[in-house]
Amino acid sequence: VSKKPSEFKLISLISKELPLPAERVELGIGDDAAVLKPARGHALLCSDAMVEGVHFDLNYATPEDIGHKALAACLSDLAAMNGRPVGIVVSLALPQDRAAKFLDGFYKGARAIAQSCGCDIVGGDLSSSPNEIFIDVACYGETDHPISRSGAKPGDLVAVSGTLGGSSAGFKSLSGGYDTSDSLKQKHLRPQPRFDLVGTPEFAVACTSLIDISDGLASELSHLAEKSRVGFEIQSANIPLHDEATLHDGLYGGEDYELLATFMPGASIPDGFTVLGRVTDSGLTMVHADGERETLQPQGFDHFSS
Ligand SMILES: [Mg+2]
Repeated sequence: VSKKPSEFKLISLISKELPLPAERVELGIGDDAAVLKPARGHALLCSDAMVEGVHFDLNYATPEDIGHKALAACLSDLAAMNGRPVGIVVSLALPQDRAAKFLDGFYKGARAIAQSCGCDIVGGDLSSSPNEIFIDVACYGETDHPISRSGAKPGDLVAVSGTLGGSSAGFKSLSGGYDTSDSLKQKHLRPQPRFDLVGTPEFAVACTSLIDISDGLASELSHLAEKSRVGFEIQSANIPLHDEATLHDGLYGGEDYELLATFMPGASIPDGFTVLGRVTDSGLTMVHADGERETLQPQGFDHFSS
């Protein structure tokens, strides 16, 4: 018995309902490799892995949800470089007896988010796995102006997009088997990479450092602080929490896939961002409404922490 489902099966799964290739994709799925037109500006490449039982659970997520989220998590890293996606390759390993049930929904969710972000799935691979499902997504993108984690300067403003904590609150509710609001389900199962907020010349001029929130606000602030060799002082009352999330969800819950950015002093803060505070010389400080100062611990969701 072949360890690999037929390549034709994979191609038909990925190609189903696929529109004409995006203009940058000269040749998509079905050959030995995809052919993409070379980038103007800078090429971006990133990948993201998801494992059943660690990152997702079919008890409360559908295969379609998982296809969406696996791509969203990877695409968000391109948004966090001020980039645009062009092509995605998706590889899966899964038990053969569960393949038929899983793959159709998975690729339906994956194709839909790829299309909504303006890119294509241009390749991938399928393999059998003894028990769990493994997913590996790699994204290729481009940008005229990459924005790294290392450009924040003392005096800059720090701001976050959207609301925080909804994914964490959704995870707790769904995994606990509670009745969960549609809003929390969306936040946890269908996060949206924030390409709508990046990519303009004005953004590139104003923004000095950028990261996406995959591990929680406190953890991402510490990543920016480390790479930029700066500190942060934020006001707890300014953190835009999802209305069903706690401050703890917002600070330490992951997977919101919003953007955390620093902006030059005096720059107009782009729509969609909320200013949290400012960049300092060192330390991670949160100031409460009553003036009490708290040192933030950069604990986020770390898969290797325990
Ligand atoms: Mg990231």
